[in-house]
Amino acid sequence: MKWENVFSWEGKVRIPQEGRFIELEEDKSLIVPNNPIIPYIEGDGIGSEIAPAMLHVVNTAVEKAYGGHRRIYWVELLAGDKAEEKTGQRMPEETLEVLRQAVVAIKGPLGTPVGKGGKSLNAVLRQSMDFYSAIRPVYWLGQPSPIPEPQRVNVAVFRENSDDVYMAIEYMPKAEDTQKVREFFIKEMKVSEYALPEDCGITVKPMSEYKTKRHVRKALRWALENKKKVVAVVGKGNIMKATEGAFINWAFEVAKEPEFEGRVITEGEPAEGQVLMLRVITDQMLMQLVLKPEAYDVIITQNLNGDYISDLASALVGGPGFVPSGNIGDGYSLFESTHGTAYDIAGKGIANPLSLTLSGAMMLEYLGWKESAQLIYEAVRRAIEDRLGTPDIALGFRKMGVQSRELSTMDFAEAIAERIG
Ligand code: ATP
Repeated sequence: MKWENVFSWEGKVRIPQEGRFIELEEDKSLIVPNNPIIPYIEGDGIGSEIAPAMLHVVNTAVEKAYGGHRRIYWVELLAGDKAEEKTGQRMPEETLEVLRQAVVAIKGPLGTPVGKGGKSLNAVLRQSMDFYSAIRPVYWLGQPSPIPEPQRVNVAVFRENSDDVYMAIEYMPKAEDTQKVREFFIKEMKVSEYALPEDCGITVKPMSEYKTKRHVRKALRWALENKKKVVAVVGKGNIMKATEGAFINWAFEVAKEPEFEGRVITEGEPAEGQVLMLRVITDQMLMQLVLKPEAYDVIITQNLNGDYISDLASALVGGPGFVPSGNIGDGYSLFESTHGTAYDIAGKGIANPLSLTLSGAMMLEYLGWKESAQLIYEAVRRAIEDRLGTPDIALGFRKMGVQSRELSTMDFAEAIAERIG
């Protein structure tokens, strides 16, 4: 498929004259022109197959919604395997520079080669752009799912992305450093040797007020804007008082800030324009998600809990192949597929493109182009209703005893595009 508005990498990044970069206001809100330049990174493994599928569906939706009045100018940036092959570097400086300039971007999965050392590229991106909230809206579009009435699931998981055990402050068992840390705790802080035996490893779990509050504000603004009703702040505050407990307390402090006063309530029935904020212990939430998923609209949580919760929520609607995600900071954002590189099926043209395509729709919403996003949701729903899908979707239908038609990645994208508008 050839699109005039897609500028693939050719020896260097090609910035189209016809497009303009998105800019940020002082308050970090977006100034989106009608011809934004948006970078895309194909990603590794199945990335080169699902990226064109996403571009095709998003282009079709934008064209249908705005009839040429609005148009994205896509610019390919390299990262991962393709970058290494073409430039010798897995994350070229040029890629980071253009991402910063463009403000909003989208990417496929990036793998971390095992045994070669080096940081995960996803972590490099997250940290260099300070994408502090990872958002995963989980909803059902008719695909095969493991639970009865999956339409009950419609929850957005806001996972803090810049704190917690992911900061990789780790002391390996028996290492010299670990003994120093142990000694400090035992001698200076009077911690018992029972708690820190000689052969233990130690992982540090930092959690800060500043990082928590900016994340909570983002989630509450989103909940109010999208007219959600029930927001759960989730953590094991009863066990980890200094971190997850503090996180929950800070979240409730944010609810009292002038911006949210009267709009975020902590008891009673939320009226029009209000959300109810509740505290829920992590294990309770995991159970509730399976038993009563309709009880919550938004989940605000920390990095590690967010990892568990978003995967469980995704599984309820059929797995990560059907769920989009966005990494968002102060205006800067990077949308991405939630599944991995799936090298086992790469090159076969059978990968499910929905996660990345729905991330494209999520990006359109973020730009304020809601009409085009809506067209994508409806078209995906119709394609699935017509029992079309990549082999993984067809297999799900077969397991339910439902007949379906198996399509390649690109044919499925085409089937969705045909159902737009
Ligand atoms: P990584 O190491 O990058 O996380 P992975 O392949 O282990 O990659 P997962 O997303 O956990 O990542 O995928 C597990 C398996 O699920 C894959 O090996 C593949 O068979 C299947 N899978 C993942 N994504 C898709 C997809 N979009 N379409 C079809 N099958 C997929």
